[in-house]
Amino acid sequence: MGLIRVLSDQVANKIAAGEVVERPASVVKELLENSLDAGATEVRVEIEAGGRRLIRVADNGCGMMHDDALLAFERHATSKLRDVRDLLSIATLGFRGEALPSIAAVSRTVLETRWAEEQTGTRVEIAGGRMLRVEETALPPGTTVTVRDLFFNVPARKKFLRSEQTETAHVASLVMHYSLAHPGRTFLLRHESRELLHVTPVETLRERVYQVFGSQTLEELVDLGCRERTLEPASAGGAAGAESGLRLFRLRGFVSRPQVQKLNRNSIFLFVNGRLIRDRLLLHALSAAYHNLIPPGCFPFALLFLECDLEEVDVNVHPSKTEVRFRHGSFVHDFVRDAVREALVEARPAGSFSSSQDPQPAANLPYSEFTQQIENQAWTAPLSGAPPENPELLPAFTLRPVAAPPPRLDFGADSVPSETGAPAAAEVKLPVPDTHGGLPADFDAAQVGSLDALRDLRPLGQLHESFIVAAGRDGLWLIDQHVAHERILFEKVLRQLAAGKLETQRLLLPVLVELSPAQLVEYARIANELEAGGFETEPFGPRTIAVKTAPAGLAPGDIEKVLFEILEVAERELRRASLDDLRRALAASIACRAAIKINTRLEPAKIQWLLEELARTECPMSCPHGRPVALRYATREILRAFHRI
Ligand code: ADP
Ligand code: MG
Repeated sequence: MGLIRVLSDQVANKIAAGEVVERPASVVKELLENSLDAGATEVRVEIEAGGRRLIRVADNGCGMMHDDALLAFERHATSKLRDVRDLLSIATLGFRGEALPSIAAVSRTVLETRWAEEQTGTRVEIAGGRMLRVEETALPPGTTVTVRDLFFNVPARKKFLRSEQTETAHVASLVMHYSLAHPGRTFLLRHESRELLHVTPVETLRERVYQVFGSQTLEELVDLGCRERTLEPASAGGAAGAESGLRLFRLRGFVSRPQVQKLNRNSIFLFVNGRLIRDRLLLHALSAAYHNLIPPGCFPFALLFLECDLEEVDVNVHPSKTEVRFRHGSFVHDFVRDAVREALVEARPAGSFSSSQDPQPAANLPYSEFTQQIENQAWTAPLSGAPPENPELLPAFTLRPVAAPPPRLDFGADSVPSETGAPAAAEVKLPVPDTHGGLPADFDAAQVGSLDALRDLRPLGQLHESFIVAAGRDGLWLIDQHVAHERILFEKVLRQLAAGKLETQRLLLPVLVELSPAQLVEYARIANELEAGGFETEPFGPRTIAVKTAPAGLAPGDIEKVLFEILEVAERELRRASLDDLRRALAASIACRAAIKINTRLEPAKIQWLLEELARTECPMSCPHGRPVALRYATREILRAFHRI
């Protein structure tokens, strides 16, 4: 008597209905989950042509008895669920009994399986949902499912598949994620003859993270350890009063230090009770933990494993089982937010956290460390130990970033009409009382606040060897020399890229860069674009490439970082990053590394050059990362601060 049962209509109807097979990665996901549910300690995934031509998942799990091998292809046939009550506490990854029949309906599928205690195995062949052959045959224990010609009978579906590389990247990312959730098992992924991932059993998640991402990533991560929070019975009771006992929630995993900033959410991996999910609530909790630590629009790397009572989470929400619903959503949200935040606070010296209202913290670490250094200097000596928290001691004015497009003639946070009832200064002229003298004769209101003002700046010097101080017709300007140069270089590199004439350098020694499986896939996909971007590379071992040329101005030590940044943007192709995005990423990355650093003394001629070049850029007011280039202390604010108006 086999283990698989066809679910009663009553149960089947309660299961979230819908298609499970969308693309090769969804087939791999279902087969992988089946292997894990079958207790396999070793799972081998093989694909060809991005999974369109072939997907094979082989495991050493429990296998199936002869009769079960046939039943498995019936709709709603499963060994994992019996009645409606089981739906409330699902411990296995599968439970719908729909994957195998759905896959077999749109491909040529072969199932080969042997239940260890049976003498022979069973081979079942199905094409387009029609059973072609069933035979008993000699097989090792375990299960192998081979899926060929996906969507051969559904041309409409086939049309929606993306490029081979994109589909491969999806599969790679999926297998990688599951390997992270199961450090104790072996995972192997091959695309044609290439091994994209091969990890052998290790004891800890930490070791698995190392296997998958390498030592550099690991260094940038904060280990959450194991954090727990208990839901009190009083609040846990609610819906089901009869229940009692504490509900324990446990969070493990890794999150990135704030200086690691990803451009998309692709590096956020969330698991609930071992199931890889996408969940808004958890994503939000994570963002909340990083609020004010990384700029808006940036995302951390995170690998979070949440474990809780099976009754606390409903996995029967979405056909592909990638969404869940928590019974106590806000409790879970706050727990995850606090746990991540605590881990970050513990991992960093407290002083690095800005408790200020600054809505746009510095975009990378060197900058913010430097900012802090200046602040420390500024607040110790000259102000006789005044604590920085004391707002009274802060200057009464604010320097405002000048954003592009240029604001109207704007002299303050709120350019209200003057007391005389005259129209706002922004629209006409400065209402300056004669008694205190007028404005300089050359003051031209129309020019104020315009990008053109840059051209006429008169450099006065440098502040902290990092910011250029300059006098303009409309006030005092501070220009961040690094960010300004970054903008100049960014536009220059973009122009060169567009013209196919990027300046490059041949490296004396090739720089070796090790790529993760996912990066390797991206690398293969954008190899041409990288070459156009000045990177001549060649394979050097299974996961290593040798970089032979690089864009001019890049120090060898920066090459790896720049490459990684570009690969990360390429990953966005999963969300449609265009060629333009890639070029911009390349230009931004080069510019950032090659630009004049802060803390660098500049000769007056160099300052002059920088201002002139900046004035010539298309968008001199923000750096490629969105940080402001220049701050202006408007003349009107100066006048106001001196009580002259
Ligand atoms: P579900 O996983 O939701 O039960 P599936 O259609 O994926 O539904 O699989 C149907 C049944 O086939 C499973 O319940 C399980 O009993 C059996 N099965 C599928 N794959 C395997 C495997 N790799 N090893 C052992 N049994 C499997
Ligand atoms: Mg399944």
